[in-house]
Amino acid sequence: MSYDITKIRTNFPVLHQQVYGKPLIYFDSAASAQKPAQVLMAEEKLHNDYYGNIHRGAHFMADKATEHFENVRTQVRDFINAKYREEIIFTKGTTESINLVAFSFCERFLNEGDEIIVSEMEHHANIVPWQMAALRKKARVVKLPFNDSGVLEIEKLPQLITQKTKLISVAHVSNVLGTINQVNEIIRIAHQKNVPVLVDGAQAVPHLKVNVQEMDADFYVFSAHKMYGPNGVGVLYGKKEWLEKMPPYQGGGEMISEVSFEGTTFNELPYKFEAGTPHISGVIAFGAALSVLQETGFENIRKHEIELLNIATEGLNQIPGINIYGQSTEKSGVISFNIEGIHPYDLGMLLDKSGIAVRTGHLCADTVMQHFGIVGCVRISFGIYNTMEEVKVFLTTLNKLRLMF
Ligand code: PMP
Repeated sequence: MSYDITKIRTNFPVLHQQVYGKPLIYFDSAASAQKPAQVLMAEEKLHNDYYGNIHRGAHFMADKATEHFENVRTQVRDFINAKYREEIIFTKGTTESINLVAFSFCERFLNEGDEIIVSEMEHHANIVPWQMAALRKKARVVKLPFNDSGVLEIEKLPQLITQKTKLISVAHVSNVLGTINQVNEIIRIAHQKNVPVLVDGAQAVPHLKVNVQEMDADFYVFSAHKMYGPNGVGVLYGKKEWLEKMPPYQGGGEMISEVSFEGTTFNELPYKFEAGTPHISGVIAFGAALSVLQETGFENIRKHEIELLNIATEGLNQIPGINIYGQSTEKSGVISFNIEGIHPYDLGMLLDKSGIAVRTGHLCADTVMQHFGIVGCVRISFGIYNTMEEVKVFLTTLNKLRLMF
């Protein structure tokens, strides 16, 4: 199937508008992607046709909602090629998925003096929960560094792994540098020493075909809202053998088998980790987003994205005083940069006034900012709906704005 950008854009009504009198160019999909009509319709259909609380088996509507909800679990399993449906836990996002593992895994497996290895290029969501667990357990977070090109120094990993290492947590794709990390190799090295690995796939799943079994990830986490799905929905994939050994994260309805004042027995997987009423409409609409990604095809998505990335990088490299953070040969559709003498906030604000939505600031990755000695930067990031013309308009606008300073 060829990449029909016009058809793709037709499904995103939100893109067809003007902001500040200029056609909207949305270059902030890494923060959150826009939603196609299929996703909006799936949510509306649920509420118009068959809404009810799931898993209670109370009536026709509840049963139908449960069936649709559980079908999406199967869809997610197939999407990332997990082995079992019960290895798919619905959460409210990547952040909650990581917090769940940081609590439950560490409660059971992390002891005083132990270590968790986390890369230097992580989003705060993949650093802070481990620091909190380390504080609770008197353990330590150890840094796996990256070099000035924004590539992880994997060669240092074998020395960093010690008897005390209980887990390694690393991004599949960096939200700042765009680097596609060699997660298969990291996992191979870790497993040689029997250390499990959590992969933060938040910036990978919208762009790359992910196969958790081939990768052999122990945990893989992501958010629906970056995949053209609704916000408030995320996934934790975990190998059954780990999830079964981990205690529940939150207590409440659904996660129990039986409750009495003498004590509680917990439900089986995946429900043990899904306390309370989940985001029913969000999960069901997420199913529609997964279908959109599948129909578009990851080969097409990647090819289109590389074209955008190359044109944008070439154009940016012509600008005097430009610094691009992240020069890996394996990059996703993310470019972070600064132009000497211009504050990233000023640039972001002026781009916004030109109709171009970008992200500015520390990008929730202070350790990356510290590596480069900067306080913030400008980030452009691409989605399936972005066009070459948009990149060209962005480059022309940026050049004009630069001359103003
Ligand atoms: N990890 C990475 C790599 C991210 O890019 C993000 C979102 N910016 C997160 C984690 C957190 O995702 P969420 O806010 O959806 O929980």
